[in-house]
Amino acid sequence: MKKTILTGLRVNSELHLGHYLGVLLPMVRLANKYSEEYNVNIFVPDLHSIISPIEGSLKENMIRSMKYFLAAGLKINENVHIYRQSHVPAHAELAWVLNCHASMGEVSRMIQYKEKGEGKDSANVGIFDYPILMAADILLYDANYVPVGEDQFQHIELTRNLATRFNNKYGEVFTIPCPEKEQAEFMGENGGVRIRDLVNPEKKMSKSTPGENSKIMLSDEPKKAGKKIKSATTDSFSEVDFDFRTRPGISNLLQILALVKDKEVKEVAKEWRGKTSYGELKSEVADAVENLLEGFQTKLSEISDEEVLALFPEGEKYANEVANKKLDKVYKIIGLR
Ligand code: ATP
Ligand code: MG
Repeated sequence: MKKTILTGLRVNSELHLGHYLGVLLPMVRLANKYSEEYNVNIFVPDLHSIISPIEGSLKENMIRSMKYFLAAGLKINENVHIYRQSHVPAHAELAWVLNCHASMGEVSRMIQYKEKGEGKDSANVGIFDYPILMAADILLYDANYVPVGEDQFQHIELTRNLATRFNNKYGEVFTIPCPEKEQAEFMGENGGVRIRDLVNPEKKMSKSTPGENSKIMLSDEPKKAGKKIKSATTDSFSEVDFDFRTRPGISNLLQILALVKDKEVKEVAKEWRGKTSYGELKSEVADAVENLLEGFQTKLSEISDEEVLALFPEGEKYANEVANKKLDKVYKIIGLR
């Protein structure tokens, strides 16, 4: 059986360079690399979107999420399946079944829940429960590889535990997604990378940080983005070196350069190690980011809503077929059918 890679990107507002280099671009590169031999499922996680506030309309963001993939270079062939989560009802149905096989204790231990819910009584139940929906997203398709940001690793582990428990109780129903180490190997060295805040490189670049210069938005005018790189915080050492613990600012720039150029960071670090001009490195990174944004923004403006919407019917037909088959198996084995 053909292996499956599954991925999705929640877009509730505009994205920044951290999203682009940390998640979107690695996903697109993986998809393009493997779509001849594997199934590549790319879905719009619109049911996940509604767990937190949405800037603009949900529909616009849903279309934008797919446009981002296309503008980042995703190549479509018959193995690439594009669908909206809410158009495949089996996701919500399997999530319910999995809910009844997960414990409050294990789900409460999810760091994302603690962070996003902030322990508040008023946090919505979706914030607590979305890792279970995520497990359903994965298990319905027997996905082996699920490229995600580092903050989602724990949810993959939860998915593995749930699937194993389910299989032990009822028989082999689910494919267990690969463990973290194998996922990481599959992603290559650019997997799970965290792009840092340009002003305060101890922290990751994040949309909720207020400062203009801390982050580069994907809609930033390229020259303006270049300026932000040039004014990024570095350190007072006299030579370039790569070490996130002691010199996060300069390491972040090397990391950005490596990702944009699709090179290994070790290689880029080697090229620059020992050089004394931080300005030179900043110029090179600024140019690379400017070019990246220019290309991305041009492509983005050329993709119409209609073009994106036209991709869904086929992907959703496929997704419903695969997902319903699995759901049916689950319903039968637990006695609902
Ligand atoms: P917030 O500050 O509200 O948490 P965010 O900027 O972290 O926003 P999220 O919506 O939480 O964005 O993240 C979406 C995905 O993008 C996650 O999988 C996360 O790992 C990834 N991501 C976010 N910021 C970065 C970053 N700086 N570098 C790499 N990946 C990132
Ligand atoms: Mg976050």
